[in-house]
Amino acid sequence: MQATSRTQGTVERISALFLRRRTVVACIIAILMTCFVAGYYVQVTVTNLRSTHQSLNDRQLRNGYIAISDLHRLVLIIQEAAVRGKMSDEAVADFRAASDFLFVRMDTFRRIQSRGDFLKEADDAIAALRRAQAVADDAIANDFRDLDADAAALIEHTQIAREALVIYLDRMRQLQDNLLFGQTAAVENQRTVVWVILLGLSVLGIAATTLLRKEVMAKQARQAAEERVRHLAFFDPLTGLPNRVQFQDRLSELLAQKTALALLLVDLDGFKQINDTYGHAAGDDILRHVAAALGPYRTPDGGFAARLGGDEFAVVCISEDIPLLSQICDDVIAAIADPIVFEGEAVGVEASIGLATKTQIGRQVAHTVDGLTRVADFALYASKSNGKRQFTIYDEVLEHQFLERRAMVEELPQAIADGSLDYYLQPKVDMTTEEVFGFEALARWRRNGVIVPPSAFIGIAEESGLIADIDCSILSNATRDIANFNLCHGTSFSISVNFSTLHFSSLKFVETVKHALLASGLQPDLLTIEITETAEMQDWGKAKQVVSAIHDLGAKVSIDDFGAGFSSLAYLRTTVADEIKIDRSLVQDIETSDTSRFLLDAVLDIARNLGLDATVEGIETRRQADIVLEMGARKAQGYFFSRPMPRDDALAAAMTTDQPLLQRPAS
Ligand code: C2E
Ligand code: MG
Ligand code: MG
Repeated sequence: MQATSRTQGTVERISALFLRRRTVVACIIAILMTCFVAGYYVQVTVTNLRSTHQSLNDRQLRNGYIAISDLHRLVLIIQEAAVRGKMSDEAVADFRAASDFLFVRMDTFRRIQSRGDFLKEADDAIAALRRAQAVADDAIANDFRDLDADAAALIEHTQIAREALVIYLDRMRQLQDNLLFGQTAAVENQRTVVWVILLGLSVLGIAATTLLRKEVMAKQARQAAEERVRHLAFFDPLTGLPNRVQFQDRLSELLAQKTALALLLVDLDGFKQINDTYGHAAGDDILRHVAAALGPYRTPDGGFAARLGGDEFAVVCISEDIPLLSQICDDVIAAIADPIVFEGEAVGVEASIGLATKTQIGRQVAHTVDGLTRVADFALYASKSNGKRQFTIYDEVLEHQFLERRAMVEELPQAIADGSLDYYLQPKVDMTTEEVFGFEALARWRRNGVIVPPSAFIGIAEESGLIADIDCSILSNATRDIANFNLCHGTSFSISVNFSTLHFSSLKFVETVKHALLASGLQPDLLTIEITETAEMQDWGKAKQVVSAIHDLGAKVSIDDFGAGFSSLAYLRTTVADEIKIDRSLVQDIETSDTSRFLLDAVLDIARNLGLDATVEGIETRRQADIVLEMGARKAQGYFFSRPMPRDDALAAAMTTDQPLLQRPAS
């Protein structure tokens, strides 16, 4: 194992080296230099060989010529002595020396000859030299007694030896030359072959080095791509935080190991608005800012933060200490709320958190990622529903509420279709004539034998987008029923229908109203659409277009719950509504509080000045009715006159004329 990893390490180090252009250039230079040195060495060898042959040849020839001159010297010395008739001591010494030199020469020839092929010419020459030498030795041995005879014998043998020597040298030169030329040619051929091989090796070496570099680069690119794919599979590219896949893997590992563990689900409030208002670049900056705020919760014991998608984040803490976790939630909310600067402008976002611990889910829910996420989700949902920018700790009540809401969302479409989601009517009374002049349609849901009030399902319907179906269904049913009733009984009851502001600004809504009026045949001025201003309703420009389109149809628009929530005088001045419905909260204390009375009076006054109709809601007592009447209000609605009732009961009661409404006891 170790050896394999060491080998891998070495391969990787070499690969890294070959990624550098300098390494490749150095390799190519090394190959070229090696080839050059090898070629140069071959060239030098060839030259050496040639000069060695040359010098050998020269030596042989020199030896031969010197031997000839030695013979010549012997002959000259003895000839001179013969002419003088005697050998002087000096001549004897010279003769001896020349004879010795000749001997040495002869020995040299013999040694050279013994190394190579035996040449007949060489043998002849050596034999002739020997004989000449023997004659010289005899002359020396006889002390040159017969100089003429010695000279004649020496000249004869010297002549023979010289001729044999010349023949030998000639033959020798021939052989040497042949050898020299043959070998030199062979070596030169070899040199050419070596040069070609070296050139080929150089080209191969350069090609191999280049290919190796390419291969290493491709491998690295492949590795980088694989690394990137691996990173993308487990990390969110925008924030660098672990993604949902990694979150699930790590959390399920932690759930198996750790006893104490908590999950914080963090969801941004109003992130969509930031994208819509400042653009996606600002949205991205905000998400990075959130990731930075969650960064510190990556702890050595395994705690980490992740982005689960969109504006959803999670923090996993290795603790179940509720005070500590609550502090973390507060810190996270505060850190996220810290605004960022985008294009010179401060942009801020808020967050809601759902918190659940592993022990909390101990008994009811399985110890799985889904189990823990689901309960933390209930808590998050509660944070959102309770006003956002807060954290909620999971408990079973929350879960029950959540499941109930979810069941409602699932059942609502069927309820709308089969009529179990219906409406009640609450009379609107003209206090001066004490007569019912119209009704408000209020949604009711007959669910499992129980009548469910709108407060239990309107919010859910708004969240799930089902509210438009509910409103349209009640609009068409109520207009149809009232139109039929008016037609049958010759009455002119008006009908007010509530509409959620979530879809009020859509022009499609105008088509729905038009269709309801046409289908029912109701006189358009008997229809009033009640809307409540909310924080969500921001596009009042569009809403005003819708209001005038409704006016064009002949119907009216009423601002509901005026005095509660978001309605304001400033808004009243700009609106083109026909009526305000004064909220119950402005009425409930008028019997006991001067301030309340003063406030209600002022609101009625303003409505009159603006030419708006006013209906006072929530009259529960006779005294309240009297006070409101004294203030000059004409139209009212409340339990004192009648609670909302099933349609037929409400219509039947309105037709009872034997007792004025104001005298009737409240039901
Ligand atoms: P709202 O439109 O202001 O309706 C008046 C609410 O006050 C009704 O409650 C009614 O029962 C109640 N009320 C009337 N007189 C009195 C009184 O003297 N004392 C007290 N304490 N309450 C009184 P409800 O029917 O529960 O409706 C609540 C709200 O639900 C409505 O307020 C309206 O905003 C909404 N809603 C009702 N039906 C629909 C609908 O079909 N569509 C939409 N979008 N919202 C609806
Ligand atoms: Mg209303
Ligand atoms: Mg109201």
